[in-house]
Amino acid sequence: MVGRAPVATREQLDQAVAAAERAFATWSKEPEARRKQACLDIVGVLQAHAGELSRLLTMEQGKPLKGMGSEFELGACMAWAGAQASFELPVKVLEDTPQSRVEIHRRPLGVEGSITPWNWPLMIAIWHVVPAIRTGNTVVIKPSPYTPLGTLRMVELINEVLPPGVLNAVTGPDELGQWMTEHPGIKKIVFTGSCATGKKVMASAAGNLKRLTLELGGNDAAIVLPGADVAAMAPKIFGGAFINSGQTCAAIKRLYVHDSLYEPMCQALAGIAQATPVGNGLDESSMMGPLQNRMQFDKVNALVEDAKAHGARILCGGSPTGGQGNFYPLTVVADVTDGTRLVDEEQFGPVLPVIRYSDLDEVIARANASEFGLSGSVWSTDLTVAAAVAARLECGTVWVNKHAAIAPNVPMGGVKSSGMGVEFGEEGLAEYTDIQVISIDKT
Ligand code: NAD
Repeated sequence: MVGRAPVATREQLDQAVAAAERAFATWSKEPEARRKQACLDIVGVLQAHAGELSRLLTMEQGKPLKGMGSEFELGACMAWAGAQASFELPVKVLEDTPQSRVEIHRRPLGVEGSITPWNWPLMIAIWHVVPAIRTGNTVVIKPSPYTPLGTLRMVELINEVLPPGVLNAVTGPDELGQWMTEHPGIKKIVFTGSCATGKKVMASAAGNLKRLTLELGGNDAAIVLPGADVAAMAPKIFGGAFINSGQTCAAIKRLYVHDSLYEPMCQALAGIAQATPVGNGLDESSMMGPLQNRMQFDKVNALVEDAKAHGARILCGGSPTGGQGNFYPLTVVADVTDGTRLVDEEQFGPVLPVIRYSDLDEVIARANASEFGLSGSVWSTDLTVAAAVAARLECGTVWVNKHAAIAPNVPMGGVKSSGMGVEFGEEGLAEYTDIQVISIDKT
């Protein structure tokens, strides 16, 4: 056991919301410069405590300190927090004539409720919290019950540089999240998690017409076109699929490879998987860690067993390694196709199904035949062809020759059942505000 976190009561949630409401009265009126400085101060605090927070994150979440693990996650926290200070949402003048002036202002909403998952707990918390306070809102955050400790400590540290009540944390089971979505004092919910929960959040938030940003699940397809450079692309595809042991919303979850490259790509990916050290995250030689919880481990295991029962060829991994912890080996699965659970469902683990195709129109249709629409990628040496294929994919982001390459200034959000609204960039910042039009008759 790493530690214990409190289970908040309804009364304690009310207290947190009341504290955030009180703080909103002053925080929302602070000058822009003050709120931008707060973002930079948060970066300073994270920087000063990066070692402590990374270690706690590894112990609680399981991801390694090194590789694309905890230290990387802390780096992303700082990059995203700092970027908020550089974004602007200026007053927009729509009309300015001798007769009339029409302006659009952006106003903060009030108390934001942030509900986060267990896969990137600190980074996603920063994604929810910093744009909210940058725009003059105040926050109550509830981390996943699987990973409350890192968020509690991070909030405690950030509160050293914020006025009381601007940022509040509550911890507890899923029910606490539901209370937040029903709470009349909360004006917006930013939720990152599964589709199933996202639908409940949306229904429950209807009570006071809360604003919503929903970042939900994905089943990202990557399509490797004929003529692609297997040797150069395989390591990038591997990274895009196995980042955080596959426990990443925008990881490659289905890899479609043209018939002409199928075997070489399968072999290249299996070779990289076998050479990647998986182990205790505190061991600095580990590049991948375990699954975060038993529920996810069992799900991944069941999907691989189902694929095997349907004739899939396991190129590496494919069975639990045994021993302590939720370690599942890095697994590449060939000779599997659409209609198999491993391809159709979100595995959220270190298992990549590689699917053969021969016809471009058909593979695009297969990639789009999903309720999800988070992101996707196209891999080719011909960038014009790749861009044309990208435009036909039904998802919020399509990368060419990269995957999961997010950035603080580039908006990201899902279409279809992968969510609503966007995060990041000025477009993401705007989602923490309502528009107010001021229209003046000058005559
Ligand atoms: P989850 O939906 O089970 O839980 C997410 C959060 O919601 C947790 O804090 C949980 O306690 C809370 N919750 C549960 N029931 C609730 C309810 N009825 N009302 C309000 N809150 C409730 O998701 P998870 O298993 O923690 O995370 C994995 C999922 O998150 C995957 O599907 C993954 O793709 C998705 N995800 C999406 C993004 C994105 O940006 N699109 C990023 C990371 C993870």
